[in-house]
Amino acid sequence: MVKYCAICEKDKAVLRRPKTGQQICKSCFYFVFETEIHHTIVDNKLFKRGDRIAIGASGGKDSTVLAHVLKTLNERYDYGLELYLLSVDEGITGYRDDSLETVKRNQQQYELPLKIVSYSDLYGWTMDEIVKEVGLKNNCTFCGVFRRQALDRGCVMLGIDHVVTGHNADDIAETVLMNILRGDIARLGRCTEIVTKGDTMVRRSKPFKYTYEKEIVMYAYFKKLDYFSTECIYSPNAYRGYARTFLKDLEAIRPSAIIDIIHSGEAFEIKSGVKMPTQQTCTRCGYISSNELCKACVLLEGLNRGLPRLGITREQRTRNDEAKETKKGVTKIQHFSEIQRAEATAPSAARALKKVDLSY
Ligand code: SF4
Ligand code: ZN
Repeated sequence: MVKYCAICEKDKAVLRRPKTGQQICKSCFYFVFETEIHHTIVDNKLFKRGDRIAIGASGGKDSTVLAHVLKTLNERYDYGLELYLLSVDEGITGYRDDSLETVKRNQQQYELPLKIVSYSDLYGWTMDEIVKEVGLKNNCTFCGVFRRQALDRGCVMLGIDHVVTGHNADDIAETVLMNILRGDIARLGRCTEIVTKGDTMVRRSKPFKYTYEKEIVMYAYFKKLDYFSTECIYSPNAYRGYARTFLKDLEAIRPSAIIDIIHSGEAFEIKSGVKMPTQQTCTRCGYISSNELCKACVLLEGLNRGLPRLGITREQRTRNDEAKETKKGVTKIQHFSEIQRAEATAPSAARALKKVDLSY
């Protein structure tokens, strides 16, 4: 017996919607998928007419679908946005070079301007070089910290103050779980926010906050979007992997688990009296930081001094120790002109440090 779409009741149902279990036709799936994102954008007042928006584009499924859907909605509902693609080249041979080719094709397909910023230009190090130095254990810490700043700096170069990323509901639910498992109250309070903004000019938002990963994959597949699906060759992120597997198991039993975890995360209130890190700006590069030096500058410091565990070891210590260590570290750092020292040993790093300093 032919099963008809539960929404339009006209066309044949060809898929079961992961979020609701409804059996629907392709065009109704596109419509509900896009409309939910439109409602997320409107309900949260993410944009206003005339905004210039950078889409963090990696060539992967999330950001490719994000670019496609934002372009579609911008035209359909006349948001009046100027869209750009912004990519970060971490310098990972055999991975990012290939995925950037996808982004370049997306640029043609969607007719959007593209800007690429690279770790090599910004920091004087590629991820290939960093992995040679630090191995495969903490590489994602470097990469994550550097990427966050790189996106902000790319926005500053484009004169844009708002970047949207393809983080989806599964990513956010995973992060809630990880923050609970780690007892990281400060991050738990922030990780479900749909818009975040630090002291930098750049706002960051997540239009896919309530969009299921499985539906993003389905949308990309049915629409035959051109995306890159290989995993990073340096991806060891075991802790997130456990959270992901756990979440997928929960989702298999009860699909609403993903949204429920996000709602739980949103409902956590931070008790008054819990000490939160105070925000200031990095004395070296001007980026937002909870210490005198931002995380990227501490990590760079370690790399340039041949002590790549400098920032990492600190992260694993307790917060109290961290505060003491930071003070000590900063006093020491203030005694040297790091740029001069880097000039003697690593001229490219020195050039990058100077650039970082001058860009703010
Ligand atoms: Fe960077 Fe790690 Fe992601 Fe690879 S898996 S792109 S190294 S954060
Ligand atoms: Zn239908």
